[in-house]
Amino acid sequence: MGVSTALNDAGPDKEVMAEALHREVSDKGFLVTSTADVINWARTGSLHWMTFGLACCAIEMIHTSMPRYDLERFGTAPRASPRQSDMMVVAGTLTNKMAPALRKVYDQMPEPRYVLSMGSCANGGGYYHYSYSVVRGVDRIVPVDVYVPGCPPTAEALLYGILQMQRKIRRVGTITR
Ligand code: SF4
Repeated sequence: MGVSTALNDAGPDKEVMAEALHREVSDKGFLVTSTADVINWARTGSLHWMTFGLACCAIEMIHTSMPRYDLERFGTAPRASPRQSDMMVVAGTLTNKMAPALRKVYDQMPEPRYVLSMGSCANGGGYYHYSYSVVRGVDRIVPVDVYVPGCPPTAEALLYGILQMQRKIRRVGTITR
């Protein structure tokens, strides 16, 4: 298995990747890979996320980074600043009043940036779909890469969504997005 393939296939399984890298170095004494693969590997291995907790879903989002689920083992960490974030997790009900703030935070994130929409409210308005004050989906305000369904989605579901985000970045990743 070449290193490029190893980087692509290993995903979050660091043991598989470490074994492939070790085998490559032992066999040849050097590594051959492509810049794009290394960039994508680094990108998915340090996916720092901007927390955008808006309602009850945020509680499950917080659970995800607590010790029981330990999201940081996948190289991700919550950030409080959009300028240090690669991905935004929108967790909860987005109101019309809050929408400009969401867009402003998104605009402050550096490229390449990704958005994960968590829960029925963020995905499409949820319970409040017919409310006069609620945005019927954050994808009306910012582009969304991954949708996690549920009301609220469990912490495991969010974890799975983030792993899907990593897969998507590896699959479609380009140096300039
Ligand atoms: S999807 Fe359900 S749990 Fe999440 S913010 Fe909406 S009402 Fe709350």
